Amino acid sequence: MLQLKLEKATEAAKEKNAKTIAIQVPEGLKTKITEIVKEVEEKTGATVFAFVAPCFGACGVADEKAKALGADLLLHFGHTQFLGQHRIETVYLPLKYELGKKKLGLLVKKTAELLKKEKVKKIALCTTIQYLPYLSGVKKELGERGFVVLIGKGKNVEAGQLLGCNYTAVKSVAGKADAIVFFGDGLFHPLGISFCCNKPVFLVNPVEGTAERLKQQRDLFLRKRIAMIEKAGRAKSMAVWVSTKRGQQRMKLAMELKKKAEGKGKKAFIVVSDLLQPDYLLGVKAEAIASTACPRIALDDSSSFKQPIVNPGELLIALGEKKIEEYGFDELT
Ligand code: SF4
Repeated sequence: MLQLKLEKATEAAKEKNAKTIAIQVPEGLKTKITEIVKEVEEKTGATVFAFVAPCFGACGVADEKAKALGADLLLHFGHTQFLGQHRIETVYLPLKYELGKKKLGLLVKKTAELLKKEKVKKIALCTTIQYLPYLSGVKKELGERGFVVLIGKGKNVEAGQLLGCNYTAVKSVAGKADAIVFFGDGLFHPLGISFCCNKPVFLVNPVEGTAERLKQQRDLFLRKRIAMIEKAGRAKSMAVWVSTKRGQQRMKLAMELKKKAEGKGKKAFIVVSDLLQPDYLLGVKAEAIASTACPRIALDDSSSFKQPIVNPGELLIALGEKKIEEYGFDELT
C-alpha cells in the first residue's frame, strides 16, 4: 500500500509562502490527485493546479511549464531529484510503500535461505525509490544472518537506488560481491542489472513476498530484443526520436545516430515530442524508430508501436557497429 503523507507537502508550501502551486504525481497516484489538490488548497490557501500528463520519473519534472503557467512552487511526488537547478522552487516528495513488519521479516528469512542454498556470502543490495526506506533494515537483518551486504553509491541517486536509466549505484560495488540482490518489484531493473553486472541476480519481491534467482527471464527477454533489432536493421527509413522532457533531451546523440544510419544507406530523420505516442507517428514514413528517450519505452512498450523500436545501443547492433555480446540497457547518466 502506498503511504501518502501530505503534511510534508503542505508544510513545504507554507514555508515557501506559495500563492500558486503546481502538482505533479506519478501514474500510480492519479486516482488521488483531486484529494491532493483539495487538501493542499485547504491547508495553504494557495491556488493549486495539477499536471495530468503522465510522469514516470524526475526526468519529466515540469518546473519550466509550472513557471510559465504562473506557479511559484512545484510539488513533485514519487521521485528523487537528479536534475540540477530548477526554474521555480521545486520540492520532491518521495512516496513510501507500506510493508508489514511480519511479511518483511519472513521475506528476509526466505532470502537468506535462498542465498545460503546458492552459496552466496557477499551481496550487493539495491532497490528503487519506493522501497528505499527499507534498504538499511534489510541490510542489517541479512548482516545479522552472516552475509556481507554492500550498498553502492551512484551518480545522481541515493545510496543503493536504481533508476531504469541509471545503474551506477549497483555497478559501483558489483565487482566486490558474489551476487546482486534486487529488493523491489517488476522485472525491468533486475534485467538491467543482469546486463551491466556480470553476477548472478536475485529478485526479492516485497509485494509478492517471493525470493528467486533471475534465470530464463533474461534469455527470453534477449531473444525478443534480438528479433526487434533484426527488424530495425532491415528498415530502410528511420525516425530518430528525441524527447523534450528536461532529463531526456539527447539531441547530440540523435544527430550521431542519424549520421550512422545514413552511413549504412538508410534514410534517417529526427523527430521530437514530449511523450512518444504511437499515433504521433501516423502518416510519418519511417519503417523503424530509434528512441533516445527513456529506455523503458522501447523495452516495455514496443507492442504499442507498429514499427520496430530500438534504443541507441540496440541501433548500433542493428547497424553492425556493436556486437550482441555487448548488449546492455541504455543509461542516461
Ligand atoms: S528516463 Fe525513464 S527510467 Fe530514467 S528517470 Fe526518466 S522515466 Fe525513469
